[in-house]
Amino acid sequence: MGSEVAVPEGKSPYELRVNQSSGSSESFVKSSLESGDVGFLHSFTTGSAVDGPGIRVVAWTAGCHWRCLFCHNPDTWSLVNGMAVPLERAVEQLKKYRHGLQVMSGGFTLSGGEPLMQDRFAARLFAAAKDLGIHTAIETNGSLGERLSDEEIKRIDLVIMDLKTWDPERHKRLTGKDVGPTLEFARRVAGLKRPMWIRFVLVPGLTDDRENIAPIAKFVAGLGVVERVEVLPFHQMGRYKWEKLGIEYKLGDVKPPTSEEVETACKIFRDEGLEAY
Ligand code: SF4
Repeated sequence: MGSEVAVPEGKSPYELRVNQSSGSSESFVKSSLESGDVGFLHSFTTGSAVDGPGIRVVAWTAGCHWRCLFCHNPDTWSLVNGMAVPLERAVEQLKKYRHGLQVMSGGFTLSGGEPLMQDRFAARLFAAAKDLGIHTAIETNGSLGERLSDEEIKRIDLVIMDLKTWDPERHKRLTGKDVGPTLEFARRVAGLKRPMWIRFVLVPGLTDDRENIAPIAKFVAGLGVVERVEVLPFHQMGRYKWEKLGIEYKLGDVKPPTSEEVETACKIFRDEGLEAY
């Protein structure tokens, strides 16, 4: 890697980005993943008010091993769709925004894709952010949490975790993967007393029934560290990406939930004593 590689700044992760590092050799990708010297980023955005407290700088990593039917960023699934960014270049970006983030009570969020596909890069970037006095957050599906040591988890000020369903079979149908490691990571984060936010995507016909939501709400309440639950209404904004990438999209006929349906879901979480909206 030359040092001239830019950080891929973008207005929004909704921009389709593909093959940004398709020329990288397999050995370069492998050694980058092992060392964390280089990360593969889909984009780097500033000014987000929805990815953690305050105003955030967000690095969107490439690479995800799940295949959620309702994923709105399928171009983040493949690592080579991210641009190879040296760790020191990403840290420079954080330095640039450090004071502004502190003034706006914000911080740095690592999102994806699944950031822990690049666990060494993630751990080193969080350590650098903490050294700079920047609040850190991760948006994760939690399934690769075992890759982080307890010390590394403690450098993450907020874990924002997606939870789709409690039921193992339904989870496999919705994401292609087991739910067990995600639940295990949530318990571990709770054991380390790290604050969590939970994100729950409300998809009519797939996740919106009481039988699905009530056990999740119970589990989340039992963790004892969850500050809020965000119920995210399913939308079709990512659909064009599936079509452009030539991947079969199965939710073409699914309508976003109504505000009443979102409120009903929130109430199930609130009934367990959680803050939900
Ligand atoms: S975990 Fe996130 S990035 Fe991965 S497939 Fe699911 S929604 Fe998409």
